Amino acid sequence: MDFNDTPDEAKFRVEARAWLDANAERLAPGERRESPMGGEGRKGLLERARVWQRTKADAGWACITWPVEYGGRGATAIQNVIWGQEESRYRVPPNMFSIGLGMLAPTIMAHGTPEQKQRYLKPMLRSDEIWCQLFSEPAAGSDLAGLRTSAVRDGSDWILNGQKIWTSGAHYCKWGMIVTRTDPAAKKHAGITYFIVDMQAKGVEIRPIRQINGASDFNEVFFSDVRIPDTYRVGAVNDGWRCALTTLMNERATIGSGQGFGLGIHELLQLARETDWNGRPALEDPSVRQRIAEFYIGLKGLEYTSYRTLTALSRGQTPGPENAIGKMVGAPLRQRLSSFAIELQGAAGATLDEGSTPLGAGFQHGWLGAPGLRIAGGTDEILHNIVAERVLGLPGEPRVDKDLAFQDVPTGRG
Ligand SMILES: Cc1cc2nc3c(=O)[nH]c(=O)nc-3n(C[C@H](O)[C@H](O)[C@H](O)COP(=O)(O)OP(=O)(O)OC[C@H]3O[C@@H](n4cnc5c(N)ncnc54)[C@H](O)[C@@H]3O)c2cc1C
Repeated sequence: MDFNDTPDEAKFRVEARAWLDANAERLAPGERRESPMGGEGRKGLLERARVWQRTKADAGWACITWPVEYGGRGATAIQNVIWGQEESRYRVPPNMFSIGLGMLAPTIMAHGTPEQKQRYLKPMLRSDEIWCQLFSEPAAGSDLAGLRTSAVRDGSDWILNGQKIWTSGAHYCKWGMIVTRTDPAAKKHAGITYFIVDMQAKGVEIRPIRQINGASDFNEVFFSDVRIPDTYRVGAVNDGWRCALTTLMNERATIGSGQGFGLGIHELLQLARETDWNGRPALEDPSVRQRIAEFYIGLKGLEYTSYRTLTALSRGQTPGPENAIGKMVGAPLRQRLSSFAIELQGAAGATLDEGSTPLGAGFQHGWLGAPGLRIAGGTDEILHNIVAERVLGLPGEPRVDKDLAFQDVPTGRG
């Protein structure tokens, strides 16, 4: 591992910092950057995020790894990491557009037509048009290739019918990218086609799902005879699984780190110092110190593991499936940390009222959001499978329906 910037990386860091200094305010010591949790309507978060996104886009700092022709600056993956590290030190809204920018745009770049790239990428970059990902269905999540939403050809159009679920942001998105079944007689992964869909089209119905924290970040989306032109197709007919894999690989990279939710170890220490336990700070209690030490060791282990990824990127290599460790270990660890912090807060911890504790409801939001993070972008169990099969070389899971025509896969529907 190499913890230092190379001369080129150091130069890039100075350039990034200079632009940020000129366009944003630095966080005060101990101040944390705003979290995306708690709903896009909170304090006008979505609109503030759009303003910041446009400021960056106009200066070429919005998606720096994108090619210059689409508004990026052709930066390397390690420069992107450096940019992220620098931006996190400023009082700017969180990125609310990572599904489009981090997952769907790379799919359009890899599989879209020149017209699609020309039409969709720049408005996406500026957040003039926001995008959602219509993959999961009630019976197709980890096993995405079990999807049933159908697209049937009708002249130069396609007719969509079915249901998607857990569609983050669908209620404020202009466009979605959807995977559909176009040939049920083909094998499970072979009869799938990938489309762009207008979220305001006739026959699209979006129903918000209310979460435990009161926010509605994601939705059920129903498609009833939704007509879309063939020009919305991405990739070849029945070759949508290949496009979906591009999206999923980028999804792992976008949310795979397990970072960016809830408060952390520094706030936990602050809380333990300020919490009175029988006339003494809680931090002086050996059992509290022991728990905090365990969290600290776990988080440090994750930090050093992440340096392996950074070193690989710095050397121009692609990080391997061991990258899954960040979310697999980090999400449950942060969940336990938030839970312990809420315990320390006593009765005051049992509320989402921002004014109830000196740290607001940061630990509460972290705790309530953690189960979602343990599911999105690969559940704990799926990540364990990846590590078992691809890192440790253990035998693969049996996949009994892999070679069957999709219409012959037993479903229990009778
Ligand atoms: C916060 C959040 C945001 C999301 N946003 C989107 C979005 O924008 N667009 C979208 O399309 N989807 C989205 N999703 C859905 C997400 O992709 C799915 O929830 C995820 O793929 C898991 O699928 P599932 O919920 O159907 O659970 P299932 O796949 O049915 O899993 C149920 C349980 O079985 C376990 N399991 C499944 N298969 C195996 C196996 N082979 N081995 C061992 N255990 C297994 C799982 O680990 C889990 O515990 C989001 C989810 C969350 C939580």
